[in-house]
Amino acid sequence: MYGRVESTEQITPSIVRVVLGGEGLDGFEMPAATDAYLNLAIAPSGAPYDAVFDPKAVRAEHAREWWPARRRYTVRAWDGTRRLLTIDFVVHGDEGVAGPWARHARPGDVLVFEGPGSGYTPDPGADWYLFAGDESALPAIAASLGAVPAGRTVVVRLVCDDAEHELALETPGRLDLRWLHRRGAEEPARLLLDAVAALELPAGRADVFVHGEADEIRGLRRHLLAERGMDRSAMSCSPYWRRTMTDEAWRAVKADFVASMDADLDAATGADSTADRP
Ligand SMILES: Cc1cc2nc3c(=O)[nH]c(=O)nc-3n(C[C@H](O)[C@H](O)[C@H](O)COP(=O)(O)OP(=O)(O)OC[C@H]3O[C@@H](n4cnc5c(N)ncnc54)[C@H](O)[C@@H]3O)c2cc1C
Repeated sequence: MYGRVESTEQITPSIVRVVLGGEGLDGFEMPAATDAYLNLAIAPSGAPYDAVFDPKAVRAEHAREWWPARRRYTVRAWDGTRRLLTIDFVVHGDEGVAGPWARHARPGDVLVFEGPGSGYTPDPGADWYLFAGDESALPAIAASLGAVPAGRTVVVRLVCDDAEHELALETPGRLDLRWLHRRGAEEPARLLLDAVAALELPAGRADVFVHGEADEIRGLRRHLLAERGMDRSAMSCSPYWRRTMTDEAWRAVKADFVASMDADLDAATGADSTADRP
């Protein structure tokens, strides 16, 4: 499938919102999940095929140097009536493929993708919710906040560069939101863990969503399961990206990383673990 860029908007200094529309979205079906994600296929510049292409056919018919880069991005919103699909891209400097694509995207540009896949929807039976993550998880967290039952406690801890990078978030729940600022922090990579470790957890059954940078997620997962004794079946936990690694490099080691994440948890709890992660 593909979308054509209808508009782009810089919604924070580091996030570009891209709205896609057009005939390429005919047949797009949005799952009920709030973390639905697409596998984007971004062609290298000068690729010897059309802007609208079939990623599988390109991989079969062209040399590897022309294969599109694969990147996963969350569907921030899908308007089925107007057939508009919104994606929020973190633009993290000039590095990478998808971030620079979003920065330079202009109306009419084509974005090819496969999917959507998904894994998480807020459990309507939970007593309270915990969402923790960084800007890459913000689209899924913002979509999920809209889907929690009215009046339920929703604890949100989000890391971003500074106050200018914060976004307004809406939920029918009772929101306990704290933004954590990397700028000026002694150990920015510990902000989320320290903030969650400092929480007095509400009573009752929790539903937990922890997605973002791999090492931060690993620390949070270990803390919540091993030290707080949370129920792993009530936790959606996904290391979306890894500091210092391109997505290609990260995908090559992700399975081993996840296995070691489970192993250090098993060492702490004496259990056998499997995590749920797209
Ligand atoms: C299921 C899923 C859903 C996701 N949804 C979103 C989403 O909605 N929006 C979003 O922005 N990201 C999302 N991500 C994360 C995104 O796929 C990665 O951040 C990806 O690596 C970005 O690709 P790139 O081409 O811009 O950079 P890459 O070429 O992969 O990396 C280049 C450099 O940038 C660094 N880098 C990568 N991502 C970040 C970041 N977020 N902040 C700072 N440095 C970074 C890398 O460590 C590397 O050093 C999602 C990931 C998954 C698995």
